[in-house]
Parts: sequence; C-alpha cells; structure tokens
Amino acid sequence: MSTQQDNIFQQIISHAKEYGFVFPSSEIYDGLSAVYDYGPYGSELKKNIREYWWKSMTQLHDNIVGIDAAIFMHPTTWKASGHIDNFSDPMIDNKDSKKRYRVDHLIEAKADTLAQEGKKEEEFALLQKMDNLLAAEDFDGLKQLILDNNITCSVSGTANWTDIRQFNLMFKTEFGAVAADNPDDNIVYLRPETAQGIFVNFLNVQKTARMKIPFGIAQTGKAFRNEIVARQFIFRMREFEQMEMQFFVRPGTEAEWYKFWKEERLNWHLSLRLPKEKYRYHDHIKLAHYAKEACDIEFEFPIGFKEVEGIHSRSNFDLSQHQQYSRKKQQYFDNDINPATGKPYGNYIPYVIETSIGLDRMFLLILSNAYEEEKITKEDGSTDSRVVLHIPAKIAPVKLAILPLLKKDGLPEIAQELLASCKPYFKCFYEEKDAIGKRYRRQDAIGTPFCVTIDHQTKEDNTVTIRYRDSMQQERIPISKVKQLVLEAI
Ligand code: ATP
Repeated sequence: MSTQQDNIFQQIISHAKEYGFVFPSSEIYDGLSAVYDYGPYGSELKKNIREYWWKSMTQLHDNIVGIDAAIFMHPTTWKASGHIDNFSDPMIDNKDSKKRYRVDHLIEAKADTLAQEGKKEEEFALLQKMDNLLAAEDFDGLKQLILDNNITCSVSGTANWTDIRQFNLMFKTEFGAVAADNPDDNIVYLRPETAQGIFVNFLNVQKTARMKIPFGIAQTGKAFRNEIVARQFIFRMREFEQMEMQFFVRPGTEAEWYKFWKEERLNWHLSLRLPKEKYRYHDHIKLAHYAKEACDIEFEFPIGFKEVEGIHSRSNFDLSQHQQYSRKKQQYFDNDINPATGKPYGNYIPYVIETSIGLDRMFLLILSNAYEEEKITKEDGSTDSRVVLHIPAKIAPVKLAILPLLKKDGLPEIAQELLASCKPYFKCFYEEKDAIGKRYRRQDAIGTPFCVTIDHQTKEDNTVTIRYRDSMQQERIPISKVKQLVLEAI
C-alpha cells in the first residue's frame, strides 16, 4: 500500500469516528482489538445496507425466503460442518518480534510488492505456488517458499520463522450453570458463519413455506471468528455481521446456478451505482474438497483489491454431513418429471450455491468509495474545500436536511411542517443553528443527498431552495414537491 493510500484509509477511519459512524468498542477502556461499535449515522447506514440486501433477496426474488436463526447452535453442528476439525488458518510466528502472521497474507503482501515493482510474472508465479501448496496442505513447502522469497517480518526485519501451525478460529464458551463431569460437554461455540443456521433448518423452511426447488434461504446476523491477524479497521473483525443466502438446486444444475449467482451478485453491487472498474472476480484455484467452484467478488479498497463477497458451489456437502451426524434425512422429493426417464426426479439431497457477504465489509466499501476531499473553486475564483460522502441516496443515513435560514419570522414553523410531512417516509434531519454554509458542510460530511432551506421567499411563494450534495447545485422548487423528489431518488 502506498503512503498516500494509507493516508486516505487513516482519514476515512478518523472521519468515521468524528462523524458518528464507527467507534472502537469500549473505547474508554482503550478499546478491544478488532471489535467496533456503530454510532448514530453508522447504525443507520448499516441498517440501510442490510435492508437493501434483504429486500433484493427476499422481496425481488419470489423463490427466496428469510430466517433468523440463533447464534448458539448444538455443538455437533460444527463437527458436522467441519469447523471443529478444519476451520483454522496456517500461521507462522517471527521468533524475533513474536509477531504472528497468516501465511497466505504474508505471501500475498510479498506478491503485492512484486506487482508494484512491475514484476507481474513473478507475482503470478508466487501466488500460483502458494495456492498449490495451500491446496496440498504442504506446510514445509510453504515455509520454504517464504524463505526462498526472502520474506521478512515487517517489525523485526528478519526471516527467523517458526514452523507453520494451524489455529482454530472459533470462539468457545460454556453453556448452562451446572458444571458437567466432562467440561467439554458444556462447550458451545459462537457461530463462525450464519450459513449453518440455514442448513439445519432446510426442511423446516422447505415444508412450512412450501418451497419447491430451486429455492433459497437468506439470513443476516452476527458471526464470530478469533482472527489472528485482526487489523485494517472493520475489514477484519472478531465480531461481524454476515448476509448469506443458500440456494438449493437439483444436482446437475449447479454449474448454471453458480454462473447465475456470480453475475446476479455483482449486479447487486452495481445497482448501487458503484464503479464497475473497481470490481473484479477472483476465481479460487484452491477449493475445499467438497466445493465444485468458488470465487470472490473483490473491490478496490484504499488498501488494495480485497474480497467483499464469496460465491461458492458447495455440492451437497453440508446437508449430507448433517444427515449423517443427526441421523435424520435431509432429502427433498422432486416430483418434476425427468425427461430422460419420463419419471419424477424423486428423492435427493439438494446441491447448494452460497452467496456470502460481510455487512461490515460492505459498509467499509461504501464509505471508502464515498469519501472525497474535494477542492472547490468559487465563482469569484477563490478556493475552498469540503469533505463529502457520496453515499448512494438509497442507503444514505439521512436523506433530507431541513434548514430554516433564520430562527425567527415564522421560518422554523414552516420547516417543522415540512419535517412532519416527510419523517414518516424517510430519515430527516432538522437544524436551525449556525450559518447555512456550515450546516451544508456538516450534511456533506455525513452524506445527506438533499438539503432544503426555508427563507423569506418561502413565505411569499411557497418555494424552497434545494441543494444537491454531489453537484452542490441549488434550485428553487415548490415546497409541496420536496417529499416526492426525495422519494423518487431513494
Ligand atoms: P477472508 O479470506 O477475508 O478471511 P473468508 O474467505 O474467510 O474471508 P468467508 O468465510 O467466505 O470469508 O465469509 C464470507 C464473507 O464474510 C467475506 O467475504 C467477508 O465479507 C465477510 N467476513 C469474513 N470474515 C470476516 C471478518 N473477520 N470481519 C469482517 N468480515 C468478514
């Protein structure tokens, strides 16, 4: 990452704190590493992103329904899903600095450096070797790769590395008040993904909502991972929120549905008018043994291209595992006629395409893309600057600021009337204090797309000045049109 990009990232973090978007958790006690709280504008923005996703999944797709499963699940869930045995990352420690790294991150950082030096082929070769070694779980080979490429610790500057070891990322806690004879009997896990809550409810949902394959189940909710390398603000947290959808399909159709969801999900991002050139797919070379295909949707954050969402073709792995461990059938009876046999497709365990996006990462994406320190040249030639968040109007925390020019002459009364008529429909902000220019700047800084000013002319002809955040253009429109204008934009 260049210093300039690093600076922008730091400015975004400060801005998020100063304007009530994101605070470090329990800050008065100096915070808790990789845990964050969302403030007044942050919680609005986060809720709006969640709702936008939820609506696009469960309202715009007739064959997707939602659930809200508990965070605690029966511990066998995690045995069946493979998380107890496999949900770990290979890590390596530097013996001099005692700093611990995720092996893939360490090698990827080296690859980034090669790319910045214009050594594209070397970068590609390094990543290719890493993927192959990770796929083969060849830890000795990975360590050798680190040594051969002279990869050193950023703190100590040395290549004095330990062997590579696996660390499980699940948080454990104890369940119930009575200590069991065997303490392991009381252990439950904080879910590391929301998906398993969907799998174990597959038949409950299919039967009660009378769903026919292909259909999907969507869920948003908290997930917890004891990330070893937890930095980069809300990009990698220990407590975060996921928005996941499992789409159940007939075996043999998974390739076409994978393709469908890969495109559909990128289109969802683009429907927020986010720049296409900042997106790319990263197809996985290293696949989990059960996976058929997998890719990440990556976005160009100020810290480089990074994953924001995963699309995975997971075969029937999860449902088969739950069938085996619970000894309860997880099958679906498909009475559609198979043209090859002339008979119904019959019983099978469906295949699954998963789309999984981190809500906090999407939040960071929106914030990084929206943030601009803009230089303004005024009509008289003088210059000024402003910090503006170009948040898409649909998800902006506040949609409309209503600003009486003066605190007298009946202007606040007119403004209050407008506020009363708009606030049942969308989030408004009312303010009388300070010069109008200052008030505009504060709204720019939280990303409010529209401001209206009520002045003396309003009393004469019922018009107001509306100011557009991105262009800073102003025009007069009838006060009666304000609500409709905002509703159309959002
Ligand atoms: P990464 O490689 O970044 O660790 P992952 O491949 O483990 O991510 P998945 O298990 O596929 O991630 O989770 C789906 C999504 O959940 C990710 O695309 C990301 O947006 C989000 N996510 C995963 N881990 C975290 C985290 N620690 N903090 C915030 N969001 C996360």
